[in-house]
Amino acid sequence: FRVPTPLNEPVKGYAPGSKERAELQQALAELNGQQRDIPMHIGGQEVRTGRTLPITPPHDHQRVLGQFHEGDASHVTQAIDAALAARTAWAELPWQERAAIFLKAADLLAGPYRARLNAATMLGQSKNAFQAEIDAACEFIDFLRFNVHFMQEIYQQQPESSPGMWNRLEHRPLEGFVFALTPFNFTSIAGNLPTSAALMGNVVVWKPAYPQIYSAQVLMELFQEAGVPAGVINLIYVDGPVAGDVIFNHPHFAGIHFTGSTKVFQTIWQTIGQNIPKYKSYPRIVGETGGKDFILAHPSAHAKAVATAITRGAFEYQGQKCSAASRVYLPSTIATEVLDYVKQDLASVKMGDVEDFTNFVNAVITEASFDKLAKYIDGAHQDADAEIVAGGTYDKSKGYFVAPTVIVTKNPKYTTMCDELFGPVVTVYVYEATDFEATLELVDTTSPYALTGAIFSQDRYAIDLATKRLVNAAGNFYINDKPTGAVVGQQPFGGARASGTNDKAGSLLNLQRWVSPRAIKETF
Ligand code: GLU
Repeated sequence: FRVPTPLNEPVKGYAPGSKERAELQQALAELNGQQRDIPMHIGGQEVRTGRTLPITPPHDHQRVLGQFHEGDASHVTQAIDAALAARTAWAELPWQERAAIFLKAADLLAGPYRARLNAATMLGQSKNAFQAEIDAACEFIDFLRFNVHFMQEIYQQQPESSPGMWNRLEHRPLEGFVFALTPFNFTSIAGNLPTSAALMGNVVVWKPAYPQIYSAQVLMELFQEAGVPAGVINLIYVDGPVAGDVIFNHPHFAGIHFTGSTKVFQTIWQTIGQNIPKYKSYPRIVGETGGKDFILAHPSAHAKAVATAITRGAFEYQGQKCSAASRVYLPSTIATEVLDYVKQDLASVKMGDVEDFTNFVNAVITEASFDKLAKYIDGAHQDADAEIVAGGTYDKSKGYFVAPTVIVTKNPKYTTMCDELFGPVVTVYVYEATDFEATLELVDTTSPYALTGAIFSQDRYAIDLATKRLVNAAGNFYINDKPTGAVVGQQPFGGARASGTNDKAGSLLNLQRWVSPRAIKETF
């Protein structure tokens, strides 16, 4: 067998008058015209508890898109039971059949599901059309196709044999169920965390972040139409600690695939540690957590390129990418020029509803996130060592809108240089152009995170020095490019230190975590 060679899905442009724009607008109109009643999915059954919570778009919190049914501890147990009941048949299904299911899912998403998943992502998560397209459509299609390709590579890893002896490696799924705990900010990640484990023959209990439930429902419909059997992926909407209490006390808990906050991940790890004697196997712990991602410009950098990287890297999807640029180091020689370009960029970007396709910035995800950002912005307005040079305003009367904000500080350890804000706020520290080496040290030591970072320079010695000194400061390191937008199959994504276990999403390394190989030796 040979699986199809994966190619990255081309990004559609959604130009005015294009067919794809018309399809997307139709999908938006259809979703807007429905009040979706969203059940959990356990063992192939829709489960409605009657305890419902409304779904509202972050950019228009008075509007209701539908409601979802929240479950309790008993539903978590049901989901685990359903997963374990499906396990043997799924694990024994030839891998080609599993591959075919997920390849079909990719094709369905590239075709008939594309507009609806993008539309649900736009409305539920406040993403503009382009951000939805590169996430829900292209990146998830890429995850599905490339994962199948990496799976085949893993299965082909076989030891040497010799006459009289045949050595084989059987890449078994984990013995138990995998828990996928997924974030709001990427529909592709919400889809990838359960499906990558399932592709390798595992059964999954999937709990999305609540603000992503609206598009999670469409993902589940996609999986079902592609042929994922009942019980293989079980989708539950249960409060985190309630779910965790059941999952992490279960003897057949075999692994967690996580993207979310550092704090939650650390708590989970501690809980798993405490419960270790209860488990049949040591669980796999795979997690991507926060970031405090940097852009560092050398005096030789092109000012315009640095400015574009700041505008796009810090403000696309309202800075709510783990990879978003949030601290910037500019040399005194080009700082004014760079900041002038950024201000020009921001003067021309519009903020508002996702359905007006000219808006570059939409709303932040929740009121809690809005309030946190507002507090930091208020602080910067008052603090002597901070100056707000762009944005600095916010308004939650209709939606959770925070203007793209640029803070300039003379203090390299100023609070917004250090804390993860997860919003459209970037902080700039201007260093003496002669202090490049000392600044490398600052970049490396200011944050416990190490997810993404970028160096801008036209000087090869400076690039080389930064690459060496910042060897552990970022799992995804960019030279003369913004620190966001990793592409599956091109830049495997993930970071170490406080940013996660660095098991590179969308790579062979990640899929390797979802198997437990058996070495078989047979003599003749
Ligand atoms: N892979 C995304 C990027 O490179 C970020 C994923 C995340 O936010 O977790 O921008």
